[in-house]
Amino acid sequence: MTGCCAHESKSLATVEAGGNDQALRAVTGEIRHDWSKKEIAEIYHSPLLELVFAAATVHRQHHDPRSVQQCTLLSVKTGGCSEDCSYCPQSARYDTGVQAEKLLDPETVYMAAKLAKESGSTRFCMGAAWREVKDNEQFDSVLSMVEKVKSLDMEVCVTLGMVNLEQAKKLKDAGVTAYNHNLDTGEEYYSKIISTRDYHDRLNTLKNVREAGITVCCGGIVGMGESDSDRIDLLHTLATMEEHPESVPVNALVAVEGTPLEDRPQVQISEMLRMIASARITMPRSVVRLSAGRMQMSMAEQALCFMAGANSIFAGDKLLTTANPEFNADKEMFASLGLKAKTLEQSGCC
Ligand code: SF4
Repeated sequence: MTGCCAHESKSLATVEAGGNDQALRAVTGEIRHDWSKKEIAEIYHSPLLELVFAAATVHRQHHDPRSVQQCTLLSVKTGGCSEDCSYCPQSARYDTGVQAEKLLDPETVYMAAKLAKESGSTRFCMGAAWREVKDNEQFDSVLSMVEKVKSLDMEVCVTLGMVNLEQAKKLKDAGVTAYNHNLDTGEEYYSKIISTRDYHDRLNTLKNVREAGITVCCGGIVGMGESDSDRIDLLHTLATMEEHPESVPVNALVAVEGTPLEDRPQVQISEMLRMIASARITMPRSVVRLSAGRMQMSMAEQALCFMAGANSIFAGDKLLTTANPEFNADKEMFASLGLKAKTLEQSGCC
């Protein structure tokens, strides 16, 4: 940062062109839970490369910048979901070509997790297209999947929709490390994307998960037609939680044909960078996951995301139902960028 600009005569045009870097000068990398929306907005709107530089600096205070965690996500119950999330090809309400499938059996899941571990993943995430967990045989089967994956000494993450406290405790006892439950966007915009549940349902599940002693994986999606202010609202909700989510996935919308968001334009890399860098600055210790949308990004663009503070990716050729770079492509990217896959010892939570 040059620190040489006088901003007394700052015009609206300057703000629109990327704000000023004053907010970044106050960034120390300290863990805070009292961020105001105004502070986050100023950070988010800072000149882009200064924002990335500040985030990279904070990143280096709390993480090994060369270390990137590889997670593998497997859909254990695909399609046929009763919810109406506008971005999701698995909703039964949209004609996307995704067929409803049965729950996978625990042995199949175990073999997939073993393969993921051999390919360098330290976290295995299992997703079921459910509105909520029900106390039935299917949940028992998921508990047995969790136990099996845990026996591989991997971090185990699940994303199963809403859970109550008792169910969350069962998941914890079976060996779940983290529960993924995204808030997707800011509270105000949420109802434009999903009508079958509300923001408080989401927050309630997060509360149950925390109370059960499971770490929270919670982030959002960029590119659903939300404004910058909605993105800032989401960051504010996450960064002012009593405990920051251990993991914050930042997804670029993958506009799938047949969903209500099928015509949304591709997310610009600058939008992803602002979101990732602002998440890194406001939640310095969290793992920021560069999640959906990597297929549309060049290696150089992904490199900028790592520079902005992303330190995890989803590895494997599928992200639930959409395409994702293959293990080998990521291996080459890591070699080119001088990155190394995070080991279990470094992740320290198994
Ligand atoms: S995002 Fe989850 S809850 Fe929403 S429709 Fe898709 S599978 Fe169902």
